[in-house]
Amino acid sequence: MGDPIICPVCGKKAKTGSAIDCARHMFGTGDKPHRQWVDAQGLSFIDLLIEQATTPGNKSYELLAEYIEKDAQKKAAEKKG
Ligand SMILES: [Zn+2]
Repeated sequence: MGDPIICPVCGKKAKTGSAIDCARHMFGTGDKPHRQWVDAQGLSFIDLLIEQATTPGNKSYELLAEYIEKDAQKKAAEKKG
């Protein structure tokens, strides 16, 4: 784990570049492109947002971070060929 995670939607590096910071950034931004990316992963942006707001802990952030990491790994693998 060396490379910082870049937001798959807008290309921004969130804070430390960890996937969880990227997840926070996505929820914090919450505009249409970010919502669509989350929904395209088979998740529901709205449900995750509600869960994050109504349950203790960072479950939604952690779940989305997993998908962000997977996507970043996929892209890195594609780059290598
Ligand atoms: Zn973004």
